[in-house]
Amino acid sequence: MKYYDKLIFELSRKGRCGYSLPEQQFPGVTGALPAELLREKPALLPEVSEVDVVRHYTNLSQMNFGVDTGFYPLGSCTMKYNPKINEEIAAMPAFGGLHPLQPECTLEGVKEIYDAMEKSLAAITGMKHFTFKPCAGAHGELTGLMIMREYHMRRGDTARVKVIVPDSAHGTNPASAAVCGLQIVVVKSKEDGLVDVEDLKPLLGPDVAGIMMTNPNTLGLFERDIKQIAALVHEAGGLLYYDGANMNPLLGVARPGDMGFDIMHLNLHKTFSTPHGGGGPGSGPVGVCDKLGDIVKSLQTSAFNGNFGVILRAYAYILMLGRQNIKMAGKLATLNANYIKESLKDSYKLPIESVCKHEFVFDGLINDGGTEEKHGATTLDVAKRLLDYGYHAPTIYFPLLFHQAMMIEPTETESKETLDAFIDVMHKIAAEAAEDPAILQEAPHNAPITRPDETAAARKPILKYQDEALQS
Ligand SMILES: *Cc1c(COP(=O)(O)O)cnc(C)c1O
Repeated sequence: MKYYDKLIFELSRKGRCGYSLPEQQFPGVTGALPAELLREKPALLPEVSEVDVVRHYTNLSQMNFGVDTGFYPLGSCTMKYNPKINEEIAAMPAFGGLHPLQPECTLEGVKEIYDAMEKSLAAITGMKHFTFKPCAGAHGELTGLMIMREYHMRRGDTARVKVIVPDSAHGTNPASAAVCGLQIVVVKSKEDGLVDVEDLKPLLGPDVAGIMMTNPNTLGLFERDIKQIAALVHEAGGLLYYDGANMNPLLGVARPGDMGFDIMHLNLHKTFSTPHGGGGPGSGPVGVCDKLGDIVKSLQTSAFNGNFGVILRAYAYILMLGRQNIKMAGKLATLNANYIKESLKDSYKLPIESVCKHEFVFDGLINDGGTEEKHGATTLDVAKRLLDYGYHAPTIYFPLLFHQAMMIEPTETESKETLDAFIDVMHKIAAEAAEDPAILQEAPHNAPITRPDETAAARKPILKYQDEALQS
């Protein structure tokens, strides 16, 4: 039996106590609270000993999984190690104690950091001006699209209501365009996973505001025709938006500004090593080319000036690496991804054979162990089995181009030994599937819970103990 087999409420025994208060020392003081402040019913609390409480919280803390506990190859998320010096700097009282409403004249140092950060990001991306207001990647997309729309409006070009998005795009791209009131037009990918330029050409016209792209795209492939695409879109009067959430592989190697993009966002919480997951915190600064500088300065898309703590961590990271070393980050991330891809392609279907950037996509197992009588193991089963071996699962069933998509992104911060151990386990899982897929289908065997109803868990989570008997 494991510690998590019983909830702390189930360990409760009537009258058991974890503390003892000293005797009342002040004669005449009753210490009784006024009746109107008292609960109608006693609080629902377990009655347990001190050691039960200590174990409860210690075990809870260890049920979590993070980059600091193990390898986390979650594609399109860049779960790289976040150096602890970033945290130390963000926690310094001079920064941690800032208040968004304090007088501007007391914020000269902070302004200097914003300026230096703008210069650094401009050098890295080839954009001219940045706004740091957006607090997430999707927030940056919305801001960028508002800039795009405003650009056309200011020129009196009001018919441009469509945004072109590749079928491989991250889900937030069409979602942001819809929130911005723009219509979405999908451009197809070719067999090789790249945007089909011939499919794009007839979509371009006087009603197109622009195109949203990611490069490398969500398959981890570099869009080699980007120069031609940029020329076509610009000729048609549109702008190019770059989703730079996953800028990692391009750091110091190539710049969206040089490829012809006009607007972009970065996810500081991915590429620039600030902790993320579980919904935040984030920072999605938006960069623009010179001609959009006025618009970006006048647009107010959030209160205050973004998530300063995250921006500061990213700045510490950039300074720590420096101009030379930051160039290595993307190259190592690319090397690590290709190493895993090549090492595993005899066990997992590789739908597109080519050199990838920081991530790649498998399309399920080559031998899923299925027969006429029994189903084979799916990508979900592989992901669940990985948990038994102590790894975070990759991103699964995204991008939507493949039915059994499994998107792996190792990042540059992992050693060859870590990658080898992961490769070993992935081979082991493939062998298990071939022999008896039920091992995977019943996984995880060692995790605190097995398989929840994922929709119910997301939509109707039960987050507190519910026991009628205890409550009454
Ligand atoms: C993560 C991601 C986003 C969204 O970023 P959030 O900060 O989660 O809003 C957008 N595009 C791509 C390609 C991403 O990987």
